[in-house]
Amino acid sequence: MRTFDIVDNGGDLWYNFDMNNVRSVPNENNDDGIIISSASNVFYLCGYDCGGDGTIVSSNGKTVLFTDRRYTEEAARRVNAGVEVKDGGLPEIAAFFRENGAKRISFEAEAVSCAEYTRLKDAISGVELVPTLGAVEKLRAVKSSRELARIADAQKITDKVFEEILPLIKEGITEYELAAKLEYAIRSKGAELAFDSIVAFGTNGSSPHAHRSAAVLKKGDLVTMDFGAKLDGYCSDMTRTVACGYVNDAQRSAYGAVLEVNTLCVAKIRAGMTCREADSLARERLKIHGLDGYFVHSLGHGVGIDIHEAPYLSQRSDEVLTEGNVVTVEPGVYLEGLFGIRIEDMVVVKDGCCIDLTGSDKDLIIL
Ligand code: ZN
Ligand code: ZN
Repeated sequence: MRTFDIVDNGGDLWYNFDMNNVRSVPNENNDDGIIISSASNVFYLCGYDCGGDGTIVSSNGKTVLFTDRRYTEEAARRVNAGVEVKDGGLPEIAAFFRENGAKRISFEAEAVSCAEYTRLKDAISGVELVPTLGAVEKLRAVKSSRELARIADAQKITDKVFEEILPLIKEGITEYELAAKLEYAIRSKGAELAFDSIVAFGTNGSSPHAHRSAAVLKKGDLVTMDFGAKLDGYCSDMTRTVACGYVNDAQRSAYGAVLEVNTLCVAKIRAGMTCREADSLARERLKIHGLDGYFVHSLGHGVGIDIHEAPYLSQRSDEVLTEGNVVTVEPGVYLEGLFGIRIEDMVVVKDGCCIDLTGSDKDLIIL
């Protein structure tokens, strides 16, 4: 199969070099060119984040990042080997394909809106546009050693933030305040937020993705914190649930069950297992505790440039886990009107095992 090849040399600021890391986008339709519009895929292929205002085009062995003057100077210094940076938009993109004699071009169906498609079609009339799905996302699901190192470094920051934040979790603090402190701690370590942190106290915790509020922490509340640092373009993701003051029997036993499931899945997940099997592992073990009905989401998701990316550990996925996948393992139980508990680690899938990148303590912490 033909491919569109880009050599990732790391750029001069973003990476330590690891030469000959060729990123080959499969050219399944044997087209004459490809347009990459997804911001995350642009970053993955060229090593530079144009904040959504960049397009990679490749044809006839040439690859160009078209962006605008806000980015061209910095981009030229940082992009991977083999990528040329040019100031331009649709007319220049059309000219690029014309110059290279391209007649059939792949485009990312999920990254192009209907309006953008119409504009593209008008700009490069006479050229056939062929939709592709997930070509780059499939590559991104398997991480290189350098990507793994970055994700691990992002998680180290997340672990450090958790350690620093624990003494601040006291009766009287609000969800807003705790979230702000968490996010300040992440940013002050030179990282970005991988996503808007979730901080939920007491009954708010029964919504897995609760929005933070002015709720005040009181004794007997569980505190769910789901957060992650993003470092050099790569995310980390962790959830810990801790208790304020004391726990009741129901909270303690549910916590024990979720921890058991988390530990079991981290011990069992390996390359060759299907995503559905991984999810079932968690569901079946929670069933033994009579809690499977309260596990209202899937077991986990891939993490990388995006906080949620392939593969997805769910009942709906036949995908097989492969070495180099980074996935979360996040069993949880959510009892409406009472509490929620989630324990989320991030692991690297290997042959025969997985490696837990999360260093934070998982035993029940009562503050
Ligand atoms: Zn999370
Ligand atoms: Zn997650």
